[in-house]
Amino acid sequence: MSVDIDCVVVGAGVVGLAVARALAMSGREVVVVEAAEAIGTGISSRNSEVIHAGIYYPSGSLKAQLCVQGKQRLYAFCDGHGVSYRRLGKLIVATDETQHSALKRLLEQGRSNGVDDLQWLDAAQARALEPALSCVAALWSPSTSIVDSHGLMLALQGDAQAHGASLVLHTPLLLARCTDQGFELHMGGAEPMTLGCRELINCAGLSAPDVASRIAGLSAQHIPTMYLCKGSYFSFSGRAPFRHLVYPAPESAGLGVHMTLDLGGQARFGPDVEWVERVDYRVEPARADGFYEAIRRYWPGLPDNSLQPAYSGIRPKISGPNEAAADFRISGPAKHGVPGLVNLFGIESPGLTSCLALAERVVDALNL
Ligand SMILES: Cc1cc2nc3c(=O)[nH]c(=O)nc-3n(C[C@H](O)[C@H](O)[C@H](O)COP(=O)(O)OP(=O)(O)OC[C@H]3O[C@@H](n4cnc5c(N)ncnc54)[C@H](O)[C@@H]3O)c2cc1C
Repeated sequence: MSVDIDCVVVGAGVVGLAVARALAMSGREVVVVEAAEAIGTGISSRNSEVIHAGIYYPSGSLKAQLCVQGKQRLYAFCDGHGVSYRRLGKLIVATDETQHSALKRLLEQGRSNGVDDLQWLDAAQARALEPALSCVAALWSPSTSIVDSHGLMLALQGDAQAHGASLVLHTPLLLARCTDQGFELHMGGAEPMTLGCRELINCAGLSAPDVASRIAGLSAQHIPTMYLCKGSYFSFSGRAPFRHLVYPAPESAGLGVHMTLDLGGQARFGPDVEWVERVDYRVEPARADGFYEAIRRYWPGLPDNSLQPAYSGIRPKISGPNEAAADFRISGPAKHGVPGLVNLFGIESPGLTSCLALAERVVDALNL
């Protein structure tokens, strides 16, 4: 089969769009194929919309490196492309003495990751910032922000298209076969088609392992097991008495039920942690009980009956419930031996923050 195009990116979430933009800017002809009817209907529109500072992740991990690099790239991109964000800053709080040492470790971890603006606050200093808060100490991260994630994706799409990339919706990748010149791709949807390309980038989020398993020629040993970890959000009716983001000391599989504000100033709480077998975005109202309990540890004044089910997202984990959290996995030719192929696995938080830095790594993996 002849080669029709240089590069196909599978998936038009924030990562696929950032990757398409980076590849188009490197001079490649790029097509993004997206199974859904629009961009960003997957994980990228079901998250906390926080630009993370890079505090939590183990030193030297891709999550640590790409979050710290990615937030700098992201701020510059948002400034240059009119994407809305607000640098609200965030407090991570210890609600009792037992969490004191965990918070100290987090401060050291953040500093070792290159987050050099963290400040330790005692209870009075924290309450001076947020009078409604109950805590024994807090970390203040001034470089944490909220961002308009959909605006970001539209800007990435626009920039990718300005550099010659194109996007086809309603077009799921069904099958790929390795050929001498690259890949032969079989796409379904309303207008099924076959396409030849030299390079194939799998940015399919929750479906990334499934898409990888459809690439004939890629050994199964290079495809991780996917574990789905759901996080539900509840919105707060009325005006919450906070001006900054508030996070508890982190849990094992997530960052804890935190309070974020949207760009309109509306508070929402989440996500919690629920390991699930299948994708189902319904938010169970009964989960509110756990939310009231978790939130009242740092905000005792949370009124009864003030939380409403909002939305949920699912973390694409490649480590299971009782395993240490896995790092992002950028699996390129140097790892699996298939020229021109990069699979992205386990792109959970901080994937939104890291999208531009991840995209640079994909280009590097192809150029090796
Ligand atoms: C609850 C939650 C909270 C989070 N909070 C934050 C946060 O505050 N800050 C942060 O930095 N990160 C956060 N993240 C992580 C961040 O949202 C993700 O890392 C990021 O959105 C992943 O983007 P993606 O493009 O890889 O995946 P997606 O957005 O899911 O995109 C994948 C796309 O691939 C498409 N696709 C799938 N299969 C096929 C196929 N066969 N053919 C064609 N297309 C296909 C899908 O339709 C989808 O559009 C959070 C994640 C979760 C779950």
